[in-house]
Amino acid sequence: MEKTDIMSLDLPELEARLEAAGEKKFRAKQIYKWLHVKRIFDFDKMTDLSVQLREHLKDNFCVNGLFVQKKLESSIDNTVKYLYRLSDGNYVETVLMEYSYGHSICVSTQVGCKMGCRFCASAIAGFVRSLEPSEILMQIYETERNSGVKVSGVVLMGIGEPLDNFDNVVKFLRILSDSSGNNFSLRHVSLSTCGIVPRIYDLAELKLQLTLCISLHASDNEARSEIMPVNRAYNIQELLGACRHYIDRTGRRITFEYAVISGVNSSDKDADRLSDLLRGINCHVNLIPVNKVRERDYHTASSAVADFAKRLGKRGINATVRRTLGSDIEAACGQLRRDAAKRETENGGADA
Ligand code: SAH
Repeated sequence: MEKTDIMSLDLPELEARLEAAGEKKFRAKQIYKWLHVKRIFDFDKMTDLSVQLREHLKDNFCVNGLFVQKKLESSIDNTVKYLYRLSDGNYVETVLMEYSYGHSICVSTQVGCKMGCRFCASAIAGFVRSLEPSEILMQIYETERNSGVKVSGVVLMGIGEPLDNFDNVVKFLRILSDSSGNNFSLRHVSLSTCGIVPRIYDLAELKLQLTLCISLHASDNEARSEIMPVNRAYNIQELLGACRHYIDRTGRRITFEYAVISGVNSSDKDADRLSDLLRGINCHVNLIPVNKVRERDYHTASSAVADFAKRLGKRGINATVRRTLGSDIEAACGQLRRDAAKRETENGGADA
């Protein structure tokens, strides 16, 4: 019988499993504390459980760990990027970033991505599969263990499209924030999506405290469809309709991300159109200089982001400019995994 991945179980599920095995329900909380607070993954070390229960756990459950395949540390700003190897040999990336107020971690939600955004390295290596809740969670636990840092912010902005792995991402968020476990406030979590409209409506119903970030990156449908194929399925107007609904339903402000790409979406006309689109929406705009991806020639001219921000400001839209972190270690998501996947193909599938 295949063992159950215990780190992917939320507390009610673990309670149900234990009760079905004739154990008391409260044991689940004890186990949850070992796993999510003390981060002890060896059932034999869970000393307040009976020997019989420990044997039951060993026979029926497993913890799928992640292994550090590569660790790159930026000498400019202390950003650390991990390439993690999953139990089935696939790779994902996780980035630990240092800010004045603490550390933030950027986690992946899928191995690869189906969305095909033209400027994104994750699209280049192709899609393999979605991550299990445990595999998203363990990126945090393993990074905290490896670095000795306690993270104070989590962003779902690594490889993959979180809303294309909706159920597992929501479960991950439940496990992460459970007060009997890691007890991490969702107020310090940001979830970034390219704009899968039906799932934005679904997410609104859950009324989570997280910050929803929308990768907008263009102000007209023609340009957006060119760089983000998802726009052909859900255009800007449908997307903004979903955003308005989300704000109404949750009372939470949305962040729009806009990578300023010279010659693509950086003109005054783009800024003016963007300000018209966003007028009246309770939102914040985050401008990003485009991260260079080797296979693409997209770039951001030196004053383009500041000019764009100024133009938006004149029209009443406040925008912040995202600081570029880890520029010396290719911290843009997807670049390490793409290289590892490419090396494996070149080596005929052997280890990178
Ligand atoms: N799939 C999700 C989350 C992953 S990407 C999404 O699309 O939002 C996280 C953010 O990085 C998105 O805003 C994405 O558009 C942006 N991004 C991807 N590649 C980039 C690049 N080369 N330069 C700047 N931003 C990039």
